[in-house]
Amino acid sequence: MLLVYNNGLSGCSENRSLQSIELLEAWLKLPQRRFGRVEQVDQHCIEADCSGLLNLLIKALGKKAPFQLLRPKAVHYYALLQEIGSPQVAAIRAGHFLAWRKDVVPKSGDTGHVLIAASKARQRASGVFVLDVLDSTKACGGLARREVELHADQNGRLIGVRLHLSDRKVKRVPIFHACLERSRHCFGCALPKAMCMCGKVEPQLSTPSIVILRHPSERGRTLSTVSLIKQRYPGVLVKDGELFSKPRDMSLALLFPGAEPLNIEVDKKGLEGQTRVLVLIDATWPKARKILHLNTWLAELPKVSLEPRAISDYLIRKVPDEDSLSTVESFAMVARDLELSELFRSFVEQQITVMGEDIYRKNYRNHLNFRP
Ligand SMILES: [Zn+2]
Repeated sequence: MLLVYNNGLSGCSENRSLQSIELLEAWLKLPQRRFGRVEQVDQHCIEADCSGLLNLLIKALGKKAPFQLLRPKAVHYYALLQEIGSPQVAAIRAGHFLAWRKDVVPKSGDTGHVLIAASKARQRASGVFVLDVLDSTKACGGLARREVELHADQNGRLIGVRLHLSDRKVKRVPIFHACLERSRHCFGCALPKAMCMCGKVEPQLSTPSIVILRHPSERGRTLSTVSLIKQRYPGVLVKDGELFSKPRDMSLALLFPGAEPLNIEVDKKGLEGQTRVLVLIDATWPKARKILHLNTWLAELPKVSLEPRAISDYLIRKVPDEDSLSTVESFAMVARDLELSELFRSFVEQQITVMGEDIYRKNYRNHLNFRP
């Protein structure tokens, strides 16, 4: 039941209305709307929470769910949009999905929030914008069309939100957004459609206690190694930037080569015996050192390092020494996850096949980890 929707809203492409907006407008006209964990829509009623609404939407549109999860939550939509989307307030269009997440995700309950833009953002003051949205919140008793307030820094990057205009506090969080209907990316894996990795590895709902601090140039890559980690652990906390505020409510240790060997036990449930969360820096070695220099709180953390049994399998990147592993290899080693290691190896092989064996031999033969 699609109602034609045309009131001048601009979609991802300016001249065609989007199916997702049409569908939501039709659902808005249902006699009953409820907020709840059940995801259900029929001719009389729609019941959903924030992620449930998007789950119903992508199902109705025949799209893949983020990381092919049965019931993705806000944190998983965020994981997807962080890889394929934009952080810029000026790039928001009607039909874009917006998401943010909590650093520490509770076992049950809210993991963050996700909503659909129904307009472009309108500037109200310096760094303050108003956006028409369609979303499902407890305060509105389910699906509603309403306004939220967005905050952006001087570069136009989204840094906060007032979810309800009556809220006193602005939530300080990075926000990413993208159009899910006209994207060159696969929503099932957050990779460019030509590189789709859907079904290569089974996603895990629980995540090892690891935080990844990613340099902006890593996020810019078509395929970052973090996007591989997300195939396996879509809930992993990844922070982008050069300057980071210290995550609160976490006891942290920094993984850095050359430090004391990692002597705290780690498994998929976290760090056994201790409640430490491991910090991984995802950057080239010079940039990782720069991040360490810029963030003094990082340099003050207890440091641990891994003792790899073999040289890095990241055959298409220069490794400085025999003990330096890539982010994804470090992650797999800490989590003792052979499936993630295997996924990484097959990814590197695929990259070499794409570039051609001859070019690999020519360009990489001087690398420490060159394998003819
Ligand atoms: Zn895919």
